[in-house]
Amino acid sequence: MKKIAIYGKGGIGKSTTVSNLSAALAVSGYRVMQVGCDPKADSTRNLTGGKKIATVLELLRDKENVSLKDLVYEGDEGVFCVEAGGPVPGVGCAGRGIITAFEKLEELDAFEVYKPDIVIYDVLGDVVCGGFAMPIRGGYAEEVYIVSSGEMMSLYAASNIAYAVKMFGKRKYASLRGIILNSKNIENEEALVRDAAAEIETQVVYQIGRNPLVQQAEAIGKTVVSAFPESDMTKNYLELAAML
Ligand code: ATP
Ligand code: MG
Repeated sequence: MKKIAIYGKGGIGKSTTVSNLSAALAVSGYRVMQVGCDPKADSTRNLTGGKKIATVLELLRDKENVSLKDLVYEGDEGVFCVEAGGPVPGVGCAGRGIITAFEKLEELDAFEVYKPDIVIYDVLGDVVCGGFAMPIRGGYAEEVYIVSSGEMMSLYAASNIAYAVKMFGKRKYASLRGIILNSKNIENEEALVRDAAAEIETQVVYQIGRNPLVQQAEAIGKTVVSAFPESDMTKNYLELAAML
């Protein structure tokens, strides 16, 4: 089982990239579990027809005897979808919520039961507090990728995330494998991101194009991979999947 965490600034395209990647891996024959680690709980929405699934934290709050069947939703292409969820706004800490959700999945032996070949964590990376760093601590994810465009703020977030990974890396946890460039068609974007990657001692592993098919698929609650299997964009995601 391979465990990958994908980080990046808010709104940069993590969930789009991760859900398409999950679908691409699934159509390539792998068992995939996607775990959304974002209080918004919308990581897997393009695998569920746009439907919001119950989050681990909601279920823990509202239901007695929560079982794996409650927590894991089988989405498009058979991807196992989990949303950690978040605290009630104004009460509690989002990071702490992620930790609670992870502990519950572990307690219920989610990986032993569903036997995924690949687990992908989709993690908000604006603040890398203890909770959001959870996937890179305690052996949850071995490999970390950062989604970034050429925009300054997303590169700034990338640098913070890289720093956090290096800190935990010293304790032999996850390692940073590189940046996935999700293009925003900024002038000189590839060179900008390549230089920024070199500064944080990593590299650009793949460049995804900007493509309106993403919005068209999103409008019907689907990934590009499921909605437009023959498109160039799907080829992009299949290549990224093969590379990972
Ligand atoms: P958040 O931090 O809020 O969870 P995110 O990083 O998960 O955000 P997404 O929700 O995946 O970001 O993407 C934001 C929007 O950008 C999406 O609504 C999607 O339509 C668009 N988008 C992402 N990637 C691409 C792309 N390669 N081409 C076109 N549009 C894209
Ligand atoms: Mg997201």
